[in-house]
Amino acid sequence: MDENVIGQRFTYYRGRVAMAELLKAAGVRKGDEVAIQAFTCVAVPEAVLSIGACPVYIDIERDGYNMASASLAGRLTDRIKAVVVQHTFGLPADLTALGSVAGQAGIPVIEDCCHTYHSRVGGALVGQNCFGAFSSVEWGKPIAAGIGGVAWSGHAEVREKLAVSLTHFTPPATARGLKLWLQLLAHRVLYRPSWYWPVRRAFKLLARLGAAEGNYNAMAEVAVAPDFHWKMVGHVERRVTRMMRELADITAHADAVAERYRTGIRGLRAVHPSPLPGTRAVYVRYPLRVANKPALLAAARKANVELGDWYSTPIHPLGPRDWATVAYQAGSCPEAEKRCGEVVTLPTHRATRMRDVDRAITLFNQDPIH
Ligand SMILES: *Cc1c(COP(=O)(O)O)cnc(C)c1O
Repeated sequence: MDENVIGQRFTYYRGRVAMAELLKAAGVRKGDEVAIQAFTCVAVPEAVLSIGACPVYIDIERDGYNMASASLAGRLTDRIKAVVVQHTFGLPADLTALGSVAGQAGIPVIEDCCHTYHSRVGGALVGQNCFGAFSSVEWGKPIAAGIGGVAWSGHAEVREKLAVSLTHFTPPATARGLKLWLQLLAHRVLYRPSWYWPVRRAFKLLARLGAAEGNYNAMAEVAVAPDFHWKMVGHVERRVTRMMRELADITAHADAVAERYRTGIRGLRAVHPSPLPGTRAVYVRYPLRVANKPALLAAARKANVELGDWYSTPIHPLGPRDWATVAYQAGSCPEAEKRCGEVVTLPTHRATRMRDVDRAITLFNQDPIH
């Protein structure tokens, strides 16, 4: 995301806010529906619900991680006013097929680029040939600048709408900015693969106590979180600007790490991701499908190897009891539900050293795993 990748950017308190603003710019109104994929995080339906619209969940590709064009075609109705296409883990979605299905129905495509800036489809960068795109600069993303969201668009009239709407936004309270700053400092010092498990536990505890800013708002039936009226915090904004200049390095590191996982982890143990022909993936996490996810996670924790479990539910981290709050129906997206039971992800972020990569490879290749 050097300046040329995004062009003019619009910045918000979180990625979901950027998404909600793009939906509004696309003319999505109260009572409309928005197609999103299952196998996502709750922030995505939260953005849809924040403007009074309703999410419609589209299943993912067989053995894949992204929206299936056939499922989209099968679910389209004239109530659906926009499609949000997510490039999960940095694997490019089938933009050609999805764009053609949406295009035939006259529905705008918004790209969720939270996991990648440099992935490509047919030589073109993701997030460029659509109504508009958004990203998040939260902890687990390619540009980890704290908490924040960015929207951009290649269309002047969309940029104009975003610019007008942004004038109504206010900065969050100073205390919140300070909390984010302290959290970022802690993240810089503590986030390394070999400390992943204890740090993760501490963070979850602090977030529950309110001392740290968590990633997920409680989903209430009526209330819209105040986040949806806030701009990006000033110091986060400055860090985003700085880190955007480092994006080429961030991508090169992720590429090198992913390539080492790809050649090092034996295929019998885990199924590697396979980008669609003609696409290039830049991974924010390297996903693998495994036969015994709980055992592997337990082994990783024991060996102090960073291993992600997300998405562990189709609307991460909501369990079945909460699915109704985001209008997800159990069993409606079987591939997404299946993937949740299979996927584990390895880090590619800059704190990942080659010795961390090799420890992860050893864990996967050890005999037996469980
Ligand atoms: C992180 C993320 C979001 C939301 O970003 P926030 O900044 O947490 O609101 C949306 N979509 C995907 C795929 C994400 O990973």
